[in-house]
Amino acid sequence: MREKVMAEEETGLNFGTEPELITEVGSLQELLDKVSGRSYEIGQPQEDAGIMDKPPFPFLALIGQKEMKLALLLSLINPHLGGVLLIGPRGTGKTTAVRGLVDLLPHVRRSLCHYGCLEEDIEENSLDAVCPACAQKYGHGERLSELEKVRLVELPLNARLEDVVGGLDPRAEINERMRLKRGILSHADRNLLYVDEVNMLKDQVVDAILDAAAQGQFTVRRGVMSATYRSDFALIGSMNPEEGYLRPQIMDRFGLRVIVKGLEKKEERMEAYQRTLAYKNNPRSFGDQFSGNTQVMREEIQISRDNLKDVKVPEKVAQTDLTLIEKLEIDSLRAEITLFEAARAYAAADARLEVNFDDLRTVAPLALRLRRSKFMADYLNDQVEEDKELGNVLDEMMPS
Ligand SMILES: [Zn+2]
Repeated sequence: MREKVMAEEETGLNFGTEPELITEVGSLQELLDKVSGRSYEIGQPQEDAGIMDKPPFPFLALIGQKEMKLALLLSLINPHLGGVLLIGPRGTGKTTAVRGLVDLLPHVRRSLCHYGCLEEDIEENSLDAVCPACAQKYGHGERLSELEKVRLVELPLNARLEDVVGGLDPRAEINERMRLKRGILSHADRNLLYVDEVNMLKDQVVDAILDAAAQGQFTVRRGVMSATYRSDFALIGSMNPEEGYLRPQIMDRFGLRVIVKGLEKKEERMEAYQRTLAYKNNPRSFGDQFSGNTQVMREEIQISRDNLKDVKVPEKVAQTDLTLIEKLEIDSLRAEITLFEAARAYAAADARLEVNFDDLRTVAPLALRLRRSKFMADYLNDQVEEDKELGNVLDEMMPS
């Protein structure tokens, strides 16, 4: 018993109490901490557990990995903070965490049209901003979009450029109506795009994804055909640095960077293992025990997302941000954009309309790490070392 109490104090895990719904939300982070440490019951083994479509492992049941969870939640609240890159070895729960987001995803207006036309395009611009068919529908008072849950779109590991941006539709060609087939990027519009092992993709594929993510749209050209698609999505990438290198230009284009390490505390590792077993034993029963709080969190995320447009960065805080970036000698202009956007999302998650210094402190490591040109510094240092070794060998062989 004593051991158990100590473990609870050390890890914040709570092994002994009955599952309960936490409805008083101070902040998202608090909710995350409380629910993640909550107890659960192991259900009866589910008979069809290996065959049927399993619900994802609940995001709220993940142990530890605070920074990863925070970064992922911030990207749901503010899809424009430049995406999240999860960097870490295999088996640290990166993919599990991303897939677990499915139950927390907010709702957005989604176009009913092939070209992605929305009512807001007309409201912001004019009838010319949508396709002729949608302009007509709008004129008749018909809907161009419906409210739908954000989806998690996963990029297949072997995706080619054509799969990503789209290409000619062979079936349409037979009908002599050459039409471009939509690629994965156009399906990612208003969704969450997950790219696992982003460092293993061809450069041109990664470039296309990052361009679309930055511009919110992309254009495909095939011969005389060309089409521009809306592609406004939040990007999540993950990589295992042991498996390959990510070009610094590409690394820089991700907003938040999380270094994901394995769990360090023995109690946490044990608890994570037991939860994995409980989930495997009966995914549905395990998921059900977190579903109430998952819903609370989903609602909080939606509210935060809706409030984001009103969250301001006061001048004093903005100046501090800029000084910080200057002191760290970061050149990339993306640093401050991400820092401001992440801090705004964090304030929104905390139900505030003004960013404060604490918000800045919390998100700064996520937004600013791996932005300095460590490569050049290392490269020059390595060069000095190599010259020294060369000199030693030369001296040995050819003493002057
Ligand atoms: Zn349309």
